[in-house]
Amino acid sequence: MERKTAAGSDLSDIETLLASLGIDKRYSRRLLYWIYRRGIRSFAQINDIPKRVLTILSEHLETGLSAPVASEASVDGSVKYLFTTSIGLAHETVWLPDGKRRTVCVSVQSGCRMGCRFCATGRYGWGGDLTAGEIVNQVISLPHEVTHIVMMGMGEPGDNIDAVIKACRILTAEWGLAAGRSRVTVSTVGVTPSVKRLLGETECNITLSLHSPFPGERRQVIPAEARWPFTETLDLFRNYDNRRKRRFTVAYVMIRGKNDSDRHLEELKRLLTGTDIRVNLLPYHPVGKDDATGSDDSVMNRFKHELVISGISASVRRSRGEDIAAACGMLAAKTREK
Ligand code: SF4
Repeated sequence: MERKTAAGSDLSDIETLLASLGIDKRYSRRLLYWIYRRGIRSFAQINDIPKRVLTILSEHLETGLSAPVASEASVDGSVKYLFTTSIGLAHETVWLPDGKRRTVCVSVQSGCRMGCRFCATGRYGWGGDLTAGEIVNQVISLPHEVTHIVMMGMGEPGDNIDAVIKACRILTAEWGLAAGRSRVTVSTVGVTPSVKRLLGETECNITLSLHSPFPGERRQVIPAEARWPFTETLDLFRNYDNRRKRRFTVAYVMIRGKNDSDRHLEELKRLLTGTDIRVNLLPYHPVGKDDATGSDDSVMNRFKHELVISGISASVRRSRGEDIAAACGMLAAKTREK
């Protein structure tokens, strides 16, 4: 019989399993505490559930937690990890310390089907979806403290939305990792039906990868634009009843001479003025044999300044982990080449 995994289960999954095994359901929260807060890899480490209960449990359940199989550290302190699933799906996780903030960037798929032009993962292709357990394992099994979680690694969350929603719930639930809802961000190219579900079924922050405010141009770098126009996601953000101050952000990777002109800036301002959507300006990292380069710092800072004086909250993100190619997909691609 195939054993289920505790990681990736929610409270009701475990209560149902325990009831079916004739075990008192009050052990459910204790079991999830050991999985999600203590990150155990063997039930034998649990010391507050009777041995006979653990014996029955281990016949039907495994922890579902596993350590990374490789890592690379950057001189700037960020570390990239490689995980593989039980069926061999490689996926990457990057840990980025920055002051008091310790962000982990997790993958939601092995590879990606979206094929964005500037992305190493897009070139890697798609290997398969990760389960909710495999997504949260990347947070639990890191040998580091984590304060913020972003789903911005390999894969498109909107293309694996059931697992992503379950992972968001596990990350924020008090029986789960109990990360505050404002500490979890899902980044998407804007798969409209999935964005609707994220808004309705989770409380996580959402980032839209925009990269051009013009649909025709955006389609050149993000083919998904043809199916799910970004304007639909922006409308969903705008019309959301945001009393709880959920954070909506637009990510804009700046490519010299491509999307950093005044025309782009004016259109960005037109789209976002009067909304509470923020803008993250990010430097472009060339992928493989690409002749495009990132915009100059002065151009990025001018974009930021112009957006801010138009009342739009904007920031410029520093490059991190360039020496270990923190752009998603590169470690997995290198490992596959080997
Ligand atoms: S940028 Fe994101 S959605 Fe696009 S190919 Fe890369 S991983 Fe997929």
